[in-house]
Amino acid sequence: MSLEERVREVQARLTRACEAAGRAPAAVELLPVSKRQPEALIREALALGFTRFGENYVQEGATKAQALPQAAFILIGPLQSNKAKVALETFTELQSVDRLELARRLDRLAGELEVVRPTWIQVDLWGEATKLGGCPEGQLPELIAFLDRSPRLPLQGLMAIPPPGDAKPFGELAALRDRWRQRLGRDLRLSMGMSGDLEAAVAAGSDQIRIGTAFFGER
Ligand SMILES: *Cc1c(COP(=O)(O)O)cnc(C)c1O
Repeated sequence: MSLEERVREVQARLTRACEAAGRAPAAVELLPVSKRQPEALIREALALGFTRFGENYVQEGATKAQALPQAAFILIGPLQSNKAKVALETFTELQSVDRLELARRLDRLAGELEVVRPTWIQVDLWGEATKLGGCPEGQLPELIAFLDRSPRLPLQGLMAIPPPGDAKPFGELAALRDRWRQRLGRDLRLSMGMSGDLEAAVAAGSDQIRIGTAFFGER
């Protein structure tokens, strides 16, 4: 299957999922995840009109960002503190901020670099942080409070990689998002759903699905 065919198939899945959920298809962003995919395929996706791409690894993202200045790369993988500066220089948006110490460092460095980077908090409600990263619910209030006051790292919403299986985690994330929306009195977006489970994520209220395999093919 060509990239174009796969993309059309993913878009059709997304449209059907939105219709089934009574949501407008334009309400959910399809973010292609280009980790471990060659630049040539990203160029093809650019030609199809996609401009934003999720990447997991800082160094790989930096190499691609240099080769493809017309693309915007978004960090969706774990971030070590010592790579914070390169991450700010490389990515237009950070989705995997999951601890206060990292947020403080990013905030200070973003000030030095004079950049603004829309930021999401990766949350972990299921005790998988050791494997995948993510802020446990108990540490969320202080992290949200900090980012909510940081003009350099404007808080966009919550991102998660829930355990595969049933749709229950998506509902838990949607409820968490709703609670914080109310508490902050403003919108927060929700990034959840991947190739295998985008339908359940959209049904639960996801605003952004991150699609690797179904978009670019096997890695
Ligand atoms: C790899 C990855 C994806 C995409 O996964 P697929 O199953 O290939 O669609 C989405 N989000 C994160 C955080 C990832 O690491």
